[in-house]
Amino acid sequence: MKAVLINKTGGTEVLEYKTDVPVPTPIDGDILVKNDFIGVNYIDTYFRTGLYPAPQFPYILGREGEGTIVATGDGDTLGMKVGDKVAYLGERAYAEFTSVPAARAIKIPESFEPGTAAAGLLQGLTALTLISEAHAVKENDWVLVHAAAGGTGLLLCQLLKAIKANVIGTVSTPEKAKLATENGAAHIINYSHEDVKARVMELTGGQGCIAVFDGVGKATFDLSLECVARKGSLVSFGNASGAVPPVTISRLSAKNARLLRPTLFNYISTRDEFAGYTDNLFEFIKKKDFNVRVHEIYPLTEVKRAHEDLEGRKTTGKLLLDPSK
Ligand code: NDP
Repeated sequence: MKAVLINKTGGTEVLEYKTDVPVPTPIDGDILVKNDFIGVNYIDTYFRTGLYPAPQFPYILGREGEGTIVATGDGDTLGMKVGDKVAYLGERAYAEFTSVPAARAIKIPESFEPGTAAAGLLQGLTALTLISEAHAVKENDWVLVHAAAGGTGLLLCQLLKAIKANVIGTVSTPEKAKLATENGAAHIINYSHEDVKARVMELTGGQGCIAVFDGVGKATFDLSLECVARKGSLVSFGNASGAVPPVTISRLSAKNARLLRPTLFNYISTRDEFAGYTDNLFEFIKKKDFNVRVHEIYPLTEVKRAHEDLEGRKTTGKLLLDPSK
């Protein structure tokens, strides 16, 4: 089958497009999915660069996809069968076929446009779990969202607006500002020419934000801590600009702030957690005014360009790969 794998870590030059990779065999409780769409996530770049260690080489990248079940392993596949359209979170998604545990897959509602489930699943679950578990955001809370026009950012803005929080989004360009506003950020700070901390303090009457959602990481950590309100939460959930260096815990005492470094997979470890949050997410997606924005569907052969665009801050919303091209 066609697949994109790495044999070593590095820049986009280590991404190898192959056409002779063996189709995986589904083991007990697994389903074999013929992928229609593959989600590109920042985590894929971390495995590529070596920030997160690959379990072995060669290693097929990719954590998310949607497609049709073409085979099942022995054992319980939770009612999912050959022919069903499913979306999943798993490993080795940058391929024509991916074998994943059925517990990590979910049937796609018939009303969904093709690609929507693969575009919304990982980042949508991230957004949902962050605002309900990392910091349970309430109506009227002031919340700061970095990279508000990104894949995760746009979904965070929409979900936060739905619970009537006051969302402040940071972006780098006027185009991203417009998009984040359309998706629910009531206030935008273009950090290319505005002082983020000064604007946050101005908007919040000097209090800061009760929750700061920071997927940018190294470049914004100090700023995020400065923007947190007394007794607020700094939720540092990603490394787009690099990993946050070790932090001295006493820095939190100035505001009795909470610091969290969550990962989605630890919020949805059990089938009940995964299915519960996914049902919740799909209900949002079914609403006409909820928008899962796809930036571009890249042919699998153009995976390098997809990674370069994502890391080069050129994208808004979700990047997908089409394994048929
Ligand atoms: P995005 O679509 O948000 O892309 C990253 C954005 O970050 C850029 O578009 C850019 O927006 C901003 N950015 C600021 N500084 C940099 C920089 N130095 N390099 C690159 N980008 C920068 O990506 P995702 O939605 O896929 O992911 C966002 C973050 O969320 C990532 O850190 C990712 O790892 C994390 N994440 C974490 C999860 C978890 O389980 N903890 C799950 C899912 C995502 P702008 O130009 O407006 O500044």
